Amino acid sequence: MVQGSVVRIQERSSTPCGRYNREPQAAPSPFTGEGRGGGGFKVTDSSIPPPPNLPPQGGEECLPYSESSDKFHDECGVYGIWNASDAAAHTALGLHALQHRGQEGAGIVSVDGEQFHSHRALGLVGDHFNSESVIGKLKGTAAIGHNRYSTTGEPHLRNVQPFFAELAFGGFAVAHNGNLTNALTLKKDLIARGSLFSSTSDTEVIVHLVARSKAGAMHDRIVDALKQIEGAYSLVMLTQHALIGVRDAHGVRPLVLGRLGESYVLASETCALDIMGARFERDIEPGEMVVIDQDGLKSHFPLADAPRRFCIFEYVYFARPDSLVEHKNVYEMRKAIGAELARESGVAADVVVPVPDSGVPAALGYAAASNLPFELGIIRNHYVGRTFIEPSDQVRHLGVKLKHNANIASIAGKRVVLVDDSIVRGTTSKKIVAMVREAGAKEIHMRIASPPTTHSCFYGVDTPERSQLMAARYNTAEMAELIGVDSLAFVSLDGLHRAMGEAGRNADNPRYCDACFSGDYPIKLTDFDSAA
Ligand code: SF4
Repeated sequence: MVQGSVVRIQERSSTPCGRYNREPQAAPSPFTGEGRGGGGFKVTDSSIPPPPNLPPQGGEECLPYSESSDKFHDECGVYGIWNASDAAAHTALGLHALQHRGQEGAGIVSVDGEQFHSHRALGLVGDHFNSESVIGKLKGTAAIGHNRYSTTGEPHLRNVQPFFAELAFGGFAVAHNGNLTNALTLKKDLIARGSLFSSTSDTEVIVHLVARSKAGAMHDRIVDALKQIEGAYSLVMLTQHALIGVRDAHGVRPLVLGRLGESYVLASETCALDIMGARFERDIEPGEMVVIDQDGLKSHFPLADAPRRFCIFEYVYFARPDSLVEHKNVYEMRKAIGAELARESGVAADVVVPVPDSGVPAALGYAAASNLPFELGIIRNHYVGRTFIEPSDQVRHLGVKLKHNANIASIAGKRVVLVDDSIVRGTTSKKIVAMVREAGAKEIHMRIASPPTTHSCFYGVDTPERSQLMAARYNTAEMAELIGVDSLAFVSLDGLHRAMGEAGRNADNPRYCDACFSGDYPIKLTDFDSAA
């Protein structure tokens, strides 16, 4: 194999999780030829007009409307296992447990000591990794896997991870949760030096950096690449002789270590360990690189020290409630946020109702702290497909009703506290509120278990551009009026940090990344700043 070139084998295509930073979106990328949002659907809510100081929304291209497009979405889940006789089957199970972190596509790469084997597909894990005909071909005792979340535009198999390449030192596969904030800058340089890219993903940059490294050993090549990338990343990588896991120096995205007998497991969340009875050992530390091979596990800290900045939104919404993340149970944290919300903005009411499913734990916490009854006043249909591409206002409205229905017996004639985890665009909130109002609620007081979402995420979460975030456009009173509630309140930034067990938010050194609420970005935004 030629050093510096990347040759793909046994694949229909390949690619990773992240994508290039999106703001500003107006100009297409100078060298990928791609702009933002290939989806080509115009989504506007004409009843939520733009303020005069922001560009009009009509004519902007954005996500096809779906209820899920009115939420932030984690873009990926990663999984890896070493020394397991049925590594691919374990990986498929782990990815299934991590399905909430990405539904666009899934992939597994395994190694049998000599050969690498790969299968990637668009769709859910259970649709493609459920048969012996697929799993049986993914031979070997080590494997890594990846779930990818659908982003703007059409899904492409070439953007489904893990990426695999045959390099000068042997096969190399990588799966990434996060987003590199200097990927465009690095990619321009790599292309100028002759690298050929086959995906639109930021993660492919890592493959090329490893391929071009002048360092000798595989481990040193990877470290060389890590020292050039910026951004948020939890990586699992596979070579012929090792499974490697890395978290960025700030530890923005999660990665945990587990043991299953003599096997080692790496996963985005502990729920992927639980599914097969693996024992949770510990979090991979920020800046830590673990190399697992026939001699066991070795831990390295090759990156410069940086303040911890774990994504606080993982606790609010992304992570599965039964996961343990950085030693905290996500479900308990969500209840604590709800309790904090009740203390900060309690209101006279008859019943607390969650917006299912994500508002349930916070509503339980709110109800307990305010001594109010908790009722399932909105029932969610779990069998509705995840995306409706709805061409008209009328059908869009139908889409929400297909997924949620008001439970009139719990709502009619009552003063309702409606609890949700966040407001992104506000379109779904408005429709849910109208539905609760139609069901006969006397008053609706909306309480949100996160601060106003005023900024986009650049660290691996699919977010609308800032101009489409409702809280970036309106103050709380205006939002309440537009959504149609009698009152609206968000948990404060301090309150959110208190729910995490902090004294409050330390403005000089916040314990968590909370940039989508505060605008305080802990990692520099090289591509964005150079494009501005
Ligand atoms: S900006 Fe928000 S969603 Fe993104 S990593 Fe920070 S807290 Fe998480």
